[in-house]
Amino acid sequence: MSQAPPTLRVPMNDLARGIARDRDVLQAAFDAVLDSGQLVLGPQTTRFEEQLAALSGVEFAVGVASGTDALELAIRATMPEGRRVVLTAANAGGYTSTAARRAGFDVRYADVDPVSLCLSAGSAAPYLDDGVGVVVVTHLYGNLTDIRELVADCHSRGILVVEDCAQAIGASLNGRPAGGSGDAGTISFYPTKNLGAVGDGGAIVTSNSEIAERVTLLRQYGWQPRYRVAVPGGVNSRLDELQAAFLLARLDRLPEHNARRRSIIARYEHSALGGRLLVLPAAGEHHSAHLAVVRTDDRDDARGWFAERGISTDIHFPFPDHEQPGFEAAPVSLPETERASREVFSLPCFPELTDAEIEAVCDAIKEYA
Ligand SMILES: *Cc1c(COP(=O)(O)O)cnc(C)c1O
Repeated sequence: MSQAPPTLRVPMNDLARGIARDRDVLQAAFDAVLDSGQLVLGPQTTRFEEQLAALSGVEFAVGVASGTDALELAIRATMPEGRRVVLTAANAGGYTSTAARRAGFDVRYADVDPVSLCLSAGSAAPYLDDGVGVVVVTHLYGNLTDIRELVADCHSRGILVVEDCAQAIGASLNGRPAGGSGDAGTISFYPTKNLGAVGDGGAIVTSNSEIAERVTLLRQYGWQPRYRVAVPGGVNSRLDELQAAFLLARLDRLPEHNARRRSIIARYEHSALGGRLLVLPAAGEHHSAHLAVVRTDDRDDARGWFAERGISTDIHFPFPDHEQPGFEAAPVSLPETERASREVFSLPCFPELTDAEIEAVCDAIKEYA
């Protein structure tokens, strides 16, 4: 018997809702920038960088044009002299691979921990050698993974650690906010992220003054002073003054929005208890609940079930980096990464979902069981 056509459609995301809610503050931010006449690296960017550093529990934040640029500049600024390899996970959407390749470095992949789906000291250990200069840990789906042991191992070998916090802004673990446990952290303000701009944006956060200074030079041609290229590898990657103003206008509500995301995932998790879907838990301050991710061994069947009920789903991420033709990776076997890439899919999770929409997803989860 076929399902009656769904009356409610639940989208994966709907940015128009957040824009409608924030319209007045965004408009005021826009007007303030126009009135100031300062359009690049002005007072809004400085103020946003100060507030972002405070939120991240670090001394410095440097705004750049995107999360991928933040990764590229952070990798350039942390790679020790004489080393060439960036070690990372292959399940995090390929952003680190893109950034490391653009910086001219080689990329090596380690498998992930089967539960956190993030790099761990144990999963990275077999791949660390004297060529590795930087390890990039992605806090996947917003789950701030404990990297203390990994950082200690890396530092004992002269390797620096960059945390990709694109999905984890606002989370904190053991009293340390995202980006405060490695040598530097990177953030994306892509519109669907937990703190979204009205366009592209990114930032590097760090308490290391040398790294902060280096990325500050790199984001503006390597100039020091103006028009004198003091360091190699500089680019034009500045956070727009307008985007900084929009981000300042939205920053206050980040904790509330992260809490709302966590409550959505908690309801999905509860609905899935005892069934065929495993909803990855996101309860607690260590999780920004960026994505509501489900694991199942029959993904096509499950996604079809939700689609029939008008519920959109997506896969984060369907192609592991080491299998992407464009990354030209050396052959490597990463069983946990490969298994997860076949099993995961994401359900709608954004703060502006209505209770009726959340309920519809919960009902579909329960019925699928
Ligand atoms: C979105 C994202 C990025 C890239 O950010 P952009 O601003 O889109 O360049 C990097 N890493 C992760 C884990 C992301 O989710």
